[in-house]
Parts: sequence; C-alpha cells; structure tokens
Amino acid sequence: MKSPPPRGETRPEAEDEFKALVVATILDSRTEEAIRLLCEHYRVRVPRLRVGVLEGRTKGVAAVYSMDRKEILAAKMEYLYDPFVMIHEFYHHLRSVSGKHRGTEKQADKFASDFVEAYKSAAAKVRALQEAGWTWTSHKRGE
Ligand SMILES: [Zn+2]
Repeated sequence: MKSPPPRGETRPEAEDEFKALVVATILDSRTEEAIRLLCEHYRVRVPRLRVGVLEGRTKGVAAVYSMDRKEILAAKMEYLYDPFVMIHEFYHHLRSVSGKHRGTEKQADKFASDFVEAYKSAAAKVRALQEAGWTWTSHKRGE
C-alpha cells in the first residue's frame, strides 16, 4: 500500500482544503471514499461502514462506532451521508486504533466541527467568487 506524506504538514491552508474536501465528498454521497481519504491522511486502517439496527439503548443515536468490529454503524442511510455524524464516528475509530481508548464525545464533536467549518468557509469563498462573476470551468479527466 502506498503511503503518501500526510497533507497539510507544510501549510495550514492545505489542512483546511483537505477537511473541506472530505465534507464535500460525504455530501456527494461518497462516504466510503471520504473515509478512505481520512484513513490515508491519518495513516490508519479503513473501518467498515454499515447501515443497520443499533443494539442497546440507542434511542436518538445516529451512528455508533464498534471498537471490536472496527465498524461505523449508521442507524439510517441518511446518517451515512451526514458529514458531522460520519467524521464524529471516524474520530472514535482514529483514537481507538492509534491509542487505547475512543476519545470523549466532546473531542469527537470538536473534531467533526472543524471539518464542517472548513467546508463552510471554503463554500463561502466559492460563493463570493461566483457573485463576483467568476465561474467554474469544468475539465474532463486528462485535459
Ligand atoms: Zn461519539
């Protein structure tokens, strides 16, 4: 498996671009791809992703992370495409494979918020450019 150097080590903007990209990929319903990007970035193994019935007292819970199964389990399909929920659960995966415990809920929320905020500010920049009359030029692969 190739391991590229972690992005964002040289300039902080690259880290924000990476975070925005991860959120955009999830919003594009490509959560598996987003999780793969995160795992490459943090150099951890890829967790399983599944939609299914949560066990135990899980009323109102969108998703859970199982340390035993190394699996993110979403209660509903819609949560699989919710960047905050998925990145929050990824944080538990990251912490549990790189440390001894899954991290706190507060830390997981903070981690996920950073990604969502990076996406929001990137999206705001794009909107500002569009309003200034700047438009996207699409390029086909290989152009
Ligand atoms: Zn949590």
